[in-house]
Amino acid sequence: AEYMPVLRVALDLPLHRLFDYVAESATPADVGLRVRVPFGRGERLGVIVEVAVDSDWPVDQLKPAKEILRDLPPLTADFFRLCQFASTYYQAAFGEVVMQALPVGLKRIDPPDRRNARATKSPPPIQPPQLTDEQARAVAAVDPAAGFSAHLLHGVTGSGKTEVYLRLIDKTLALGRQVLLLVPEINLTPQLEARFRARFPATPMAILTSHQPDRARSEAWVAAWQGRARLVIGTRLAVFTPLPELGLIVVDEEHDASFKQQDGLRYSARDLAIWRAHQASVPVILGSATPSLESWQHAQDGRYRLIELTRRATGASLPEVRLIDIRRLPLEDGLSPPARQALVSARQRGEISMVFVNRRGYAPALACTDCGWIAGCPHCAVKLVLHLRERRLRCHHCGHNEAIPLACPDCGNPDIKPLGQGTQRIEAALHQLLPGSRIRRIDRDTVSHRDAWDDIYREVHAGEVDVLVGTQMLAKGHDFPALSTVVALNVDGGLYSPDFRASEMLFAQLLQVAGRAGRAGIPGTVWVQTQLPEHPLYQALVRHDYPGFAASLLQERQETGFPPFCHQFVLRADAPQRSDAMAFLQQISTTLPLIDGVTVFDPMPATLTRLE
Ligand code: ADP
Ligand code: ZN
Ligand code: ZN
Repeated sequence: AEYMPVLRVALDLPLHRLFDYVAESATPADVGLRVRVPFGRGERLGVIVEVAVDSDWPVDQLKPAKEILRDLPPLTADFFRLCQFASTYYQAAFGEVVMQALPVGLKRIDPPDRRNARATKSPPPIQPPQLTDEQARAVAAVDPAAGFSAHLLHGVTGSGKTEVYLRLIDKTLALGRQVLLLVPEINLTPQLEARFRARFPATPMAILTSHQPDRARSEAWVAAWQGRARLVIGTRLAVFTPLPELGLIVVDEEHDASFKQQDGLRYSARDLAIWRAHQASVPVILGSATPSLESWQHAQDGRYRLIELTRRATGASLPEVRLIDIRRLPLEDGLSPPARQALVSARQRGEISMVFVNRRGYAPALACTDCGWIAGCPHCAVKLVLHLRERRLRCHHCGHNEAIPLACPDCGNPDIKPLGQGTQRIEAALHQLLPGSRIRRIDRDTVSHRDAWDDIYREVHAGEVDVLVGTQMLAKGHDFPALSTVVALNVDGGLYSPDFRASEMLFAQLLQVAGRAGRAGIPGTVWVQTQLPEHPLYQALVRHDYPGFAASLLQERQETGFPPFCHQFVLRADAPQRSDAMAFLQQISTTLPLIDGVTVFDPMPATLTRLE
């Protein structure tokens, strides 16, 4: 038979195989190019992984590829290795990983628009501050020219971690290498971008987030891939960006949950970043005031080098944390007298306050005062959240929403009441407590895109906001000067959660929230309302003792055999009938081969089950 090159193509399908096509004009140099191929009745875009002389299928039955796209340079072996690793580690099909790593704009059948990166007006350059001794030591500890090393930069809130990144980025750019900076979804604000542009006015930058228009993302991706962009700042998806001259990776707020992709292709961008740095023989820096216990443990056992910043860069002291024991205090709209007093005093002094309530909406539940009925979601085993402004009950799990009933649907009692506090209710209570104050609510209902943050920043910095009230969105590394007082409400729930990471996350959240206070010279105070003031978590919080608390949690995890002292693998099943899913899992768990050192736990229903 006549010789025809065979293309092995990765397609976005959950199948652990490549797909073979023939292509007359193909050569091995085409590996890494995108290709249009017929598939079923339609057509798909894939990536050529191999150009072979043979196939496991009869070659004369293979379909011809439609077109090899040569508008962009081929993806390199490095990129394929990263995808291969992710595919094995996260048990996803190689083709799925490859295709999901590409920006949408490059996956369309029609060719991408290849206008040049948008011209950015360079902002006024800023003078870098003189490093503190600790910062200088941190910068000196990382050598961007010395190959792979993993560093955990543990710096208290306000210790100037960003300045350390900036100096290391500067060093790396000067070596002619590219830098990848990964930040949590919510931190990739125009302010952050502006700050980096101002520091590196001559450096072509690329921004990569899932929120930007497809074209902007493709452009940024291609600019990074072609080496035109030297500094790439992005959220978790940016970890897959091909960077031919990579010289440094920084993962800021490495503990942040947004680095984990929780659906579709599941991965941890932080863990992939470490792997990538190792692969590319470059340093990687994980920064946080509250590192994940996994990273902290690696720093303890020497796998990561620990760099510590123990003081605030501006010389400000850390805020005082005060626990309010609410067991014997009257609460009005969830606020205790000391919390009210603190907010009133701050207002009188003209300082900004922040109230942290981990629940959006008006109240987490609506209940009948007579028969005990509580509004529940008809689809999920959860309570419906009362949203007073929209006059709806909403399920925060599945999105179901319905009108607020006029009376109890069970007993007809018209006296139905909100239970507990959400951000809307606290906002209303604060208007009563602090009449005339400018109150800004920050939760997923008010801040849905990064431009909304832009407005909030401007308002806070322009002195147009007196009180911020919001969810954990407030906890993320934002720098709000003139903020003196923080009140945290209803946080004890984190201590009862079935999630073994709940107390780690609660502690991180509270330490991060606390870290917003007292940055600009005004001493900060953090008030935490709790029914368990003697709990070790709160005691450690009062001392700002991350290392102490981490040590006790790690000991607990070691004794009970939880990560990072073991690996856990979860097998999930979904079915319309719970019994079907359970039977399936039961069968698997009893037929799994016994492997030494592997414990198989009995199947159990999800904490949030759907009602049948
Ligand atoms: P972190 O990310 O560690 O919480 P930031 O990087 O936000 O801290 O820095 C906190 C504040 O300290 C910022 O306002 C920053 O401009 C300032 N800062 C950082 N380094 C210095 C320094 N060496 N001298 C003075 N101020 C600094
Ligand atoms: Zn009732
Ligand atoms: Zn629901």
